[in-house]
Amino acid sequence: MTSLPLVFSAPKRGLPPKHLADYTEQELKDAVAELGEKPFRASQLRNHYYGRLTADPQQMTDIPAGSRDKLAEKLLPPLLSTVKHLACDDGWTRKTLWKAHDGTLIESVLMRYPDRATVCISSQAGCGMACPFCATGQGGLQRNLSTAEIVDQVRSAAAAMRDGDLGEPGRLSNVVFMGMGEPLANYKRVIDAVRKITDPAPNGIGLSQRNITVSTVGLVPAIRKLTEEDLSVTLAVSLHTPDDELRDTLVPVNTRWKVAEVLEAARGYADKTGRRVSIEYALIRDINDHGWRADLLGKLLRKHLGQFVHVNLIPLNPTPGSKWDASPKPVEREFVRRVQAQGVACTVRDTRGQEIAAACGQLAAEG
Ligand code: SAH
Repeated sequence: MTSLPLVFSAPKRGLPPKHLADYTEQELKDAVAELGEKPFRASQLRNHYYGRLTADPQQMTDIPAGSRDKLAEKLLPPLLSTVKHLACDDGWTRKTLWKAHDGTLIESVLMRYPDRATVCISSQAGCGMACPFCATGQGGLQRNLSTAEIVDQVRSAAAAMRDGDLGEPGRLSNVVFMGMGEPLANYKRVIDAVRKITDPAPNGIGLSQRNITVSTVGLVPAIRKLTEEDLSVTLAVSLHTPDDELRDTLVPVNTRWKVAEVLEAARGYADKTGRRVSIEYALIRDINDHGWRADLLGKLLRKHLGQFVHVNLIPLNPTPGSKWDASPKPVEREFVRRVQAQGVACTVRDTRGQEIAAACGQLAAEG
């Protein structure tokens, strides 16, 4: 038997070296002390990173050069470098391909609207959930992202908005965990990142928890755990069909946690937080766009979630090699009408970034 090519025996890709955004406030103080530096350097570093949104030690001019180099080497290891930016929608949408320390590629998408700016970020490199219509799902999971790798996507987006990289200088307002990966499968780091994105400066970036959306395939135990976190983020559940038979194939994790269990867990979240849950539904021609499914979806959501729900229809973004397509507009309109007829709020998501493969489910980081 011939030996396997080297690529098959490559070491498992690991998390990056620990970064300032991985530490708690106390841990950062300790780390600074261990380097023999004055304790207040820790708050200077946090001010630069979270408050001024800079990770470049050269700009931290209130710290003497010698200390700066020492601190930067230990606490600001390079995390994500830009491989490329792609823009569309008149420059109002920008996708960034990032390379991590180990060569792992991930993507995030910044979208500017008249009244807000949203960044769609990745929580894992690849994804293990294997939804057949999603480009990320086709490649499998490479690895979890670290807390700092997640936070840093937001820091960069906030800096880009402030610096006018997408037109007039503005402010990043929203974060959606709808890029690559299943956020609740990287639970601890995602929650840690949410806190650092929302804690007020200098301990965090200071965005409102209400403007953060965590989207999940429906990992029921993790939804229950999230319910106990005392966070008021928006929960989005990728349902895609109201019946278990079809959902078993569209969202394979449904074989483990059924539609009714997922909706009950979502209800628990809504009850605890008072927040409406978003139900994501990628509308796929002749697969899940039937009138009877719209009726069933509306009934089921009213029963489980009452007024605490909003349906987001996402016209399917075809992925390379897929036989599936978006539903025709009249079918989509009829679907919306039938869901609304059950007394459930339902809107169609605008699809930004299609021509740069930056729309929902298209993030695949091919380089
Ligand atoms: N793993 C999380 C976040 C992933 S992406 C989740 O599944 O919720 C965010 C949304 O985009 C999910 O609802 C996902 O199902 C949807 N999506 C994936 N591929 C898509 C595609 N090709 N067209 C439209 N929506 C898609």
